Amino acid sequence: MPAASSFGLPPLLGVSQLIRALSLLGRSGVPLVAVQSKVTRHHTRNIARVPHSQITNGLAAHLTRAAASAASLRPRSATEDSIQPLPEVSPDALPIVSIGDNKVAIGWDTRTWSRFHNIWLRDHCRCPKCFHAITKQRLVNTFEIPHDITPVTVQPKAEGLEVKWPSSDSHISLYPWAWLQQHSYDPVIHKTDAEKDKVLWGKKIEKSPPTVTYEEAMSEDDRGLFKWLTNIDKFGFSLVQGVPPTPEATEELVERIGFIRETQYGRFWDFTSDLAKGDMAYTTIALGAHTDTTYFTDPCGLQVFHLLSHTDGSGGASLLVDGFYAASILKELYPDAYDVLSNVRVPAHAAGEPSALYRPSPPSGYPVLSHDPVSGELTQVRWNNDDRSVMSHLGPQLVEEWYSAIRAWNECLTSPDSEFWIQLQPGTAVVIDNHRVLHGRSAFDGKRRMCGAYVGVDEYRSKLAVLREKFAPDAVLRTTNELPMAVANGRNIWNSAL
Ligand SMILES: [Zn+2]
Repeated sequence: MPAASSFGLPPLLGVSQLIRALSLLGRSGVPLVAVQSKVTRHHTRNIARVPHSQITNGLAAHLTRAAASAASLRPRSATEDSIQPLPEVSPDALPIVSIGDNKVAIGWDTRTWSRFHNIWLRDHCRCPKCFHAITKQRLVNTFEIPHDITPVTVQPKAEGLEVKWPSSDSHISLYPWAWLQQHSYDPVIHKTDAEKDKVLWGKKIEKSPPTVTYEEAMSEDDRGLFKWLTNIDKFGFSLVQGVPPTPEATEELVERIGFIRETQYGRFWDFTSDLAKGDMAYTTIALGAHTDTTYFTDPCGLQVFHLLSHTDGSGGASLLVDGFYAASILKELYPDAYDVLSNVRVPAHAAGEPSALYRPSPPSGYPVLSHDPVSGELTQVRWNNDDRSVMSHLGPQLVEEWYSAIRAWNECLTSPDSEFWIQLQPGTAVVIDNHRVLHGRSAFDGKRRMCGAYVGVDEYRSKLAVLREKFAPDAVLRTTNELPMAVANGRNIWNSAL
């Protein structure tokens, strides 16, 4: 008898029912959809907690009903058990602080304490002697700090924890309360920043896809740019409407985000289906949902494309699929397949041009689903079955399991519930996060002219972080911007990214 697959595949009409299993009850009693990722078979962690109201797949009603029962079926993860966000410290009720053996303890309330090692605190001093306020680089000589350093005194002040260190020049450090809460590691305190919210979507996104206008995107005050990049961060894509249907205007639009990332396809592409480059994108055949440049060590971050014209033919609808949504379905329906895709590396190549032969480093490639090793959060989907190289590294015991896993993944990606089809018209550009959203197209005839470009993921993230500082400061920035010597050269030294 042939070996059965580890996970038999039920017909996908079950997705709508089975997605109910996604829901959990939040601490507050508000139903949440918690998307979980298993980094290994032994560690289950949250990858995103999405407020229920933000789920746009149209299955919200089913989710609510199932929330309580799903919650009772599922053990709480370590992250869920960690301490919830604390309120801002008020000057009338300062935390209790005390010096322990090798740590300083801060009592936020009667039940919640954070502990910081002395050496950690001394190393993170941000006084002008220890941290360059303009360059935001460390000045303190970490290796001169005595291993057993102990504060002389610790004092709760309105602005934060004041620590006096033993030294001839009476070294005093001040750590803002919100900063200490944000960086508390013993225990980790939950963060609530809006940047954690990702909206997972399916087909129903077609009713109101995230969109900005060309005027907004180009407006000098950057508010529209912030809205645009926030759309991409939350949804993994955004449309831009009203773009003049020219390569020049489209290129200017891309440059609002940052440097264009040049690749073997050029810097800014302007192409028709003439196979000018040895890639199927340059043909008229249908392309299934995939991410681009899976054969790079660092796949392109954003992809911008803009249909400039389509004459003498039809077809060529564009397909977008939220890879994080599909992954959340996979995890619920086929947790073993999710594990396989999170662990098995997939080699890939780009070899259609005689002058180039791309492979990622290491050549064994990367798993289809990549996670933040610290938080367990799903961070990247990398999937293009057409670009896959030889799978000679699986081991005989994994071969059938792996093929079953990618079959399950393919079912999640190609479910009608997952697919957002849009017939683009000249004037509407699409920007997608190539680390999350897969794209494809239907076959077409006639002459189609497309243009577009890539932007590196770091470039895009940097721009978004700068705009967040300005338009959506987090709790630390809100409470420390007024502190003396906090802001130099336009940036706060307590910024959470530093
Ligand atoms: Zn210092």
